[in-house]
Amino acid sequence: MKLEDILQKYYGYETFREGQKELIEHVMNNQSALGILPTGGGKSICYQVPGIARGGLTLVISPLISLMKDQVDTLSAAGIPAAYLNSQQKAAEVRAVESDLKKGAYQFLYVAPERFEQNNFRYLLTQLDIRLIAFDEAHCISKWGHDFRPSYRQVVSRVMTIGAPCIAVTATATVDVRKDIQELLYISDDCVVETSIKRDNLDFKIDPTFQKDKMVRRYVKEHMKDSGIIYATTRKQVEALSEQFTDQNISHTIYHAGLSSEVREQNQTAFVNDNSPVMIATNAFGMGIDKSNVRYVIHYNLPQDLESYYQEAGRAGRDGLQSECILLYSEQDIRLQQFFIGNTPDEVIQERKKEKLEKMVQYTKTTQCLQGTLINYFNPEEHLEPCGRCTNCLMEAKYDMSVEAKKLMSCLIRIKTPVSRGILTKVIRGEQVSQEMSQLSTFGLMKDYETKDIHGFIDTLLFNGYLDEIDGKLHVHPSAKDVLMSDVKIMTHYHPVSYNERVTIHTLVNVDEDLFEHLKKVRKELSVEMNVPPFTIFSDRTLTLFAQKQPTTKQEMFHIEGVGSYKLKHYCPRFIEAIKSYQSTV
Ligand code: ADP
Ligand code: ZN
Repeated sequence: MKLEDILQKYYGYETFREGQKELIEHVMNNQSALGILPTGGGKSICYQVPGIARGGLTLVISPLISLMKDQVDTLSAAGIPAAYLNSQQKAAEVRAVESDLKKGAYQFLYVAPERFEQNNFRYLLTQLDIRLIAFDEAHCISKWGHDFRPSYRQVVSRVMTIGAPCIAVTATATVDVRKDIQELLYISDDCVVETSIKRDNLDFKIDPTFQKDKMVRRYVKEHMKDSGIIYATTRKQVEALSEQFTDQNISHTIYHAGLSSEVREQNQTAFVNDNSPVMIATNAFGMGIDKSNVRYVIHYNLPQDLESYYQEAGRAGRDGLQSECILLYSEQDIRLQQFFIGNTPDEVIQERKKEKLEKMVQYTKTTQCLQGTLINYFNPEEHLEPCGRCTNCLMEAKYDMSVEAKKLMSCLIRIKTPVSRGILTKVIRGEQVSQEMSQLSTFGLMKDYETKDIHGFIDTLLFNGYLDEIDGKLHVHPSAKDVLMSDVKIMTHYHPVSYNERVTIHTLVNVDEDLFEHLKKVRKELSVEMNVPPFTIFSDRTLTLFAQKQPTTKQEMFHIEGVGSYKLKHYCPRFIEAIKSYQSTV
């Protein structure tokens, strides 16, 4: 089967993303390869598609037990037989998997590095038809990685004798790590594929609010239907936020190192399965969580460095839909981080950490594009255009409102008596207020503007002191004559166009929200029946497309991104039924 056909059949995607095809072709040519792709960039497909194409068994070495289960669920949901072996399984389960393996029942086997220390497992491997070896989270092999696992490094010499090509994937891209992996796995320079770590669907925001609690509660309430993570630095802060949420009846769950492992596991599952869409956690949470529909990540405190920030914030929007990463911070946060650094015994490391914290603080102060600042930190050579969506870009999108200012102020002068902003807005938009006002030459002068745009301009004029608002009535200040008589420019942060963009951030055009919610319920039912997480059935993106296009035949459904032939057969009938019955009720 052609690579594209596999992608279409099992995943329902039409084209490969940047880097995927190139990487896959290397291993199809029996060359070992390394892929450095951003989080959410689609690393799994890079080893799964060639794994299917090469036939036999693909051995996937993964240091994250939580990730294994998700991956196996996702593969099984797409009709690809897969299994995992790790230390948390019961002996009987392990024996069953091993005996199925010998029968050639699986196409993918996920294993933890420690497993290779067992003689009988190594013996088992010699009996299997392994045709590809994949190293997931490959930076853990490297001594220079931020998450080095010695047992992972030892696996390398043990699997090299198998005689299948290796594919290593990671999102961490420092030069040292990359060289180290290449040497260990004999990967030549031209078999390294690296794409930008830029994530276009993430909107970075900074909010230096003093009322963090209020902001967080309000945000979560306004996004009740969305899944999100709130990171706080200490367990105590997590508990405190949780208490507030409970008081306000906001459903949520928590995660930090002070909870027992059963409770942690339970809470994590509740979050991943969408039973509890909001997670409040310390940075102990998130490694290996493969939940694709996280719509926002809020940092309640300043993290210790930009590596941590980008990794944690990057857990938003893995399905490619627009998502927000919001950083709240205070001076106190900086002092807390400095305190932690002060406790580091090694002086060299202490210095390094201080420098990194300094960069983190600079991020909160920059007036440059936030996305650009982040990418630049990791890869100073990458040239970027301003993203146009982060808080700084929106602020920068200054709008010259001199003409509108003149129109508004002359209208107010012609009305002669002070009026409320509501009246001024009506007159200038050409809405009937009184006979007299309709006769004014400024009546309807700004009929093409929306009410909220005009309010935005009035706010700026008030802020600049050209207007005064006394007892709810607008007065023209004497300084306004500078604007009316000369060429004084009035700029505003308020930008009608970007304002509109901000409001529509979460909504695709023509998506029927009720239908979307309904389809989510259907997905949830299926997920309970099949005992797999909801997102392995269809991503939020695919459901959104269903709600937008409302396909009612298999033919129509097949053309939607995320629908492969397996899912078409096994899941789509339920969704078609749901869409049809929804249409008949509206
Ligand atoms: P990561 O690189 O973080 O491991 P994943 O492999 O989990 O990323 O992929 C992230 C999401 O992108 C998944 O929902 C996956 O199905 C989707 N994806 C991967 N490749 C493609 C593609 N070629 N077209 C569309 N979506 C894709
Ligand atoms: Zn920007």
